[in-house]
Amino acid sequence: MMDFPAILLYGETGFGLWEYLSDRAAGRLCEHPGSATASASGVACRACAACALVAAGTHPDLFVLMPEAVAIDLGARATSGDGDEASADKRAPSREIPIDAVRRLVDWSHTTSHRGGAKVACVYPLNAMAPPAANALLKTLEEPAPGLWFLMATHRLDQVMPTLRSRCRLQSMHRPSRAAALEDLRARGVANPEDLAAWCRDATRGLAPEQGAEGLAWARHLLALLDAGPQSLGAVGAPPPPPVAVAALQKLAVDLQRARLGMVPLYLPAQRRLLEVLGARMNPTAWLRFWERMGEAGATANFPLHAGLVADRWALELRQLFTASAT
Ligand SMILES: [Zn+2]
Repeated sequence: MMDFPAILLYGETGFGLWEYLSDRAAGRLCEHPGSATASASGVACRACAACALVAAGTHPDLFVLMPEAVAIDLGARATSGDGDEASADKRAPSREIPIDAVRRLVDWSHTTSHRGGAKVACVYPLNAMAPPAANALLKTLEEPAPGLWFLMATHRLDQVMPTLRSRCRLQSMHRPSRAAALEDLRARGVANPEDLAAWCRDATRGLAPEQGAEGLAWARHLLALLDAGPQSLGAVGAPPPPPVAVAALQKLAVDLQRARLGMVPLYLPAQRRLLEVLGARMNPTAWLRFWERMGEAGATANFPLHAGLVADRWALELRQLFTASAT
């Protein structure tokens, strides 16, 4: 059988399914497949003209179809979202892929390749389509134009319409082992791979190391401030972007709670002693409130303009877990 032109990856959230998908798209479009870094495995060289266009989000033969809210969460650029009126009005960004965007993809699929190579349509997450939108995609999936590849992913395979599923080659994605994660991080020249692997729970595939390291560095910085005591109010440092900040605070909260209960921290095992000291000082009721707040914040797709101020406020709330302690 020939290479199947539509691939549907599926797996749990939180370990870089989208990043892996976009890496594969980049690998498919890379024009330097014979170079030392690129290979038959389809890894992009990140040096050729095509890779530069993909990185800039302007490759004409790549169409990224994703809900506006997901694009914001991921800091990705959806081809389908360009020029939408959505950004102009004040409504919350959509979590659904609109049928208009699917129609734009269908129109694009009929055009010839700009760079004379493959064309790639990335759809993520595939389940974010109402039936009319899914139906609009169906025919293009059934009879894809020559040279057109569909790379799609979902965390909810059960929510993908069976008609779409049956047109795809399914491929499940698992969380990598610790050894594989370490190998991956070392290959990318990460300084302390053990710390970052723990922080990411080995979900390093597709992770931009600086992105993971950013959250880790901020969490450590906050821990040091907490250790210094409540008088060090204010200097929370330059916080990372809100989605990274929320994830970092959630991980920190989990580890504080685990340390308080005498369990090994999941994300910051190297800071176990400090986490235990702080965990013992923590107000459990305030912790629960904070935990719920971070859950809500994590579910918010659109952050206000002054995102740094929001993360600052969260950091202050974290500090109140300790200042509010009754004992
Ligand atoms: Zn390349």
